Amino acid sequence: MNSWRIETKCLQEGYRPNNGEPRILPIYQSTTFKYDSTEHVAKLFDLEVPGHMYSRISNPTVECVENKIAALEGGIGALCTSSGQSASLIAVMNVCESGDHFVASSAIYGGTYNLFAVTMKKMGIDVTFVDPDSPEEEIQKAFRPNTKALFGETIANPKISVLDIEKFARIAHKNGVPLIIDNTFATPILCRPIEFGADIVVHSTTKYMDGHATSVGGVIVDSGKFDWTNGKYPGFTQPDPSYHGVIYTENFGSAAYITKARVQYVRDIGNCMSPMNAFLTNLGLETLHLRMERHTENATRVAQFLKNHDKVQSVSYPALPDDPYHELAKKYLPKGCSGVLSFQIKGGKEAAMRFMDRLKLASIVVHVADARTSVLHPASSTHRQLSDEQLVKAGIEPGLIRLSVGIENVDDIIEDIQQALEE
Ligand SMILES: *Cc1c(COP(=O)(O)O)cnc(C)c1O
Repeated sequence: MNSWRIETKCLQEGYRPNNGEPRILPIYQSTTFKYDSTEHVAKLFDLEVPGHMYSRISNPTVECVENKIAALEGGIGALCTSSGQSASLIAVMNVCESGDHFVASSAIYGGTYNLFAVTMKKMGIDVTFVDPDSPEEEIQKAFRPNTKALFGETIANPKISVLDIEKFARIAHKNGVPLIIDNTFATPILCRPIEFGADIVVHSTTKYMDGHATSVGGVIVDSGKFDWTNGKYPGFTQPDPSYHGVIYTENFGSAAYITKARVQYVRDIGNCMSPMNAFLTNLGLETLHLRMERHTENATRVAQFLKNHDKVQSVSYPALPDDPYHELAKKYLPKGCSGVLSFQIKGGKEAAMRFMDRLKLASIVVHVADARTSVLHPASSTHRQLSDEQLVKAGIEPGLIRLSVGIENVDDIIEDIQQALEE
């Protein structure tokens, strides 16, 4: 890894062709790899030499994208997964086994909430949700002797709140557990959680990293900084019988976490990223810095417009000076707050739906963080599995509209919103 600025890394990291090799990252659409000797294969299977065994575990195209994202986040390694959901699942499973517990912010993506509250509970992994805005002493009360991780989201979807990452890192480290941050909305262009003490960063690459709504994917980035030998994580310090007694902390040092996630969990569960999706994600990453700049600029203009409109009750966008998360945004998101904002129209759920049906440029999709402007009504779509009580806990009013401001001309976006707000 070198000292390039982040814009340069978006283009140049991960894949550096040698003399006469393809300029563009090739799609290695191959499940399999060929070896000269049985001895080499044996060493691969015992994790004694690096190399690709099978594309469920690793693949040359996917590896280049992993290295690029690791460089962007300032991590020592990364692991691409089939989706953002898979990234969160594997990131937690890698440190929590059946009988363990973890603590998560309640202001997280609805799909993650469901994964933690319903599906992982069935696997014997228990979670306690905490209000991320609570004081440290309050959050501390959720910790138990078997707590193995703390999880939060930089910009919470769809509440659009900003997490105090340093506070969460202090609490996690005081308890000897890693802090896992979902950095999907901020992207490493706007915030790099590792710089504020996060140990593990996850993304849904489906969103801004891809940016063009072509590929579902996820990634886990390892800071390489957490001490897995602190006595809480025998999975890292005791021999793994599935690899002839490999001990992750001894054999892989600072890369213990990301290696274990790959060779145990993605190997066994099979939620890998395909080479084609990795190629498309890489195309998106090449313009991530430009797009995030424009998304942020446009969303700020749209937020100001909505704020001054008499049909709008409230706007949540942390770049607005009177937003409750503005101080945190200044610290963690100095370059801007992404393209996602939310607002409430006067007249509640019905007015919200009428507004959405009248939009011409902005489209109703179950997606955010795309180059095209889109809208979503969380209470009737992404978050419909939550009860009213859980909705309010996650900061979602029934009339809340989430707007994902694209990179079209901002005047066209504003004119569209204006006509849709009219009677
Ligand atoms: C979309 C999203 C996810 C889930 O990612 P998928 O790629 O859809 O599985 C997780 N976290 C956040 C913040 C998201 O927006």
